Amino acid sequence: MKYVSTRQGRGGVTASQAIIRGIAPDGGLYVPETIPAVDMDFIRRLASMDYRGRAVEVLSLYLEEFSRKELEDIAEASYGDNFDCPAVAPLRVLDGTTAYLELWHGPTSAFKDMALQIMPRLLTASLRKNGEKRTVSILVATSGDTGKAALEGFKGVPGTRIMVFYPRDGVSQVQKLQMATQEGNNVNVVAVEGNFDDAQTGVKKIFADRDFEKVLDGRGYFLSSANSINWGRLVPQIAYYFSAYCDMVNAGALEMGEKLDFCVPTGNFGNILAGWYAKQMGLPVGRFLCASNDNNVLTDFIATGVYDKNRPFHLTSSPSMDILVSSNLERLLYCLSGDADRVRDMMEKLGAEGRYDAGEDLRKAVQAEFTGGFCRDADAKEELGRVWRELGYLMDTHTAVASRVLRQLREKQGVSRPTVVVSTASPFKFGGAVLEALGAVTSETGPALVDELAAFTGLPAPGPLAGLGQKPVRFDKWVTKEDMESAVSEFLA
Ligand SMILES: *Cc1c(COP(=O)(O)O)cnc(C)c1O
Repeated sequence: MKYVSTRQGRGGVTASQAIIRGIAPDGGLYVPETIPAVDMDFIRRLASMDYRGRAVEVLSLYLEEFSRKELEDIAEASYGDNFDCPAVAPLRVLDGTTAYLELWHGPTSAFKDMALQIMPRLLTASLRKNGEKRTVSILVATSGDTGKAALEGFKGVPGTRIMVFYPRDGVSQVQKLQMATQEGNNVNVVAVEGNFDDAQTGVKKIFADRDFEKVLDGRGYFLSSANSINWGRLVPQIAYYFSAYCDMVNAGALEMGEKLDFCVPTGNFGNILAGWYAKQMGLPVGRFLCASNDNNVLTDFIATGVYDKNRPFHLTSSPSMDILVSSNLERLLYCLSGDADRVRDMMEKLGAEGRYDAGEDLRKAVQAEFTGGFCRDADAKEELGRVWRELGYLMDTHTAVASRVLRQLREKQGVSRPTVVVSTASPFKFGGAVLEALGAVTSETGPALVDELAAFTGLPAPGPLAGLGQKPVRFDKWVTKEDMESAVSEFLA
């Protein structure tokens, strides 16, 4: 199977090459030339497997250069006791038609671990397969959770270095502390003045700088990305959509073959796009509900076909969704149109004018599978408090956005189809906002909020978060976005 760039559509590289490069030389994203198809027997077989087995089955369809044994070893190392629950991605069925897929039982308590525990292993295996001798240097722009998850995934991995940029004023105290206290001798963390889009644009510029590439090559380094634009990030995520479907069936909440909807709290469009791939492969999915917070670019895009990032940027209590440019949408536009020239044109318009019109045919194709919705910050908090009071289920602020959007849509449509709400972070990761939503009064800040939330709810905090306050801070530097490249140069001296 070959992978082609969304801005070229031809040529093609192997999966391992796509994973090494991260982004295509023409600035496009790699997508598989054809999407592998599965039948209901495949899904029935998965239903009797554990999470690792399911992941191996799905991964092997996309990563042909990897032997089954290789993938089994990788899955075992990636989804083992680094997760605090043997199911890895457990499904909590709350009522007859609603379940929450908990993707945050990994080492950093957010769903990014699902991909970033496995991606460094896929990457180093890919480097071996391609005879690469240089050290790969991962650059990450993070809105909070990716950075920590990437640092945890890459720390101490031989032949790799990793540098993470986060918006100085756009992440929670706990997120900041998680990154600032990162261990490992191949890691670096720097704050950037500005918001997530500034950090992401800065990183993209560094990747596009051919002169800098030559300089680094001379020093024995090359750059790659662990952002959700890397295919190695996307492909592991496809597995949990299959897994959730199987668990719904196993729980008796769904008939095998019946359609299931997914409601996904969305930022960069990576999580929900993995679900879309699962559907194209043959998983019986009805619709994808694309849930946004006040930064509702995607809601408008799905409704109108016009993507317009020229609008106020809101800092919300779901910071990992505070995004105006959802990079992975490019993959969907390519897959639905099959027209790389058109995609390139749209992306150039986005770069130059901050806006493009996808056209009526693409709008209709998107609307055939996606429903967009958004909610205000206060409504997400109200939802969080209500579900805790009425059902005794505690969720984080991002998941609450999806939960609220689902409720809104169900009220509007007057029907409740079986739906999985994709739960993307532990509530303890956003303790301050969660306590506020629960109506708790607290004067605590930062990591003390973790204990406070545990005391208030009687629920145990995840181990790594509980010990955060005691860890020494290793990284406290910040730069302007203009100085990001020289910070990289210094790190890779
Ligand atoms: C990254 C993240 C999201 C958004 O996921 P995308 O793949 O960027 O759409 C939502 N919630 C949490 C907690 C996240 O960390």
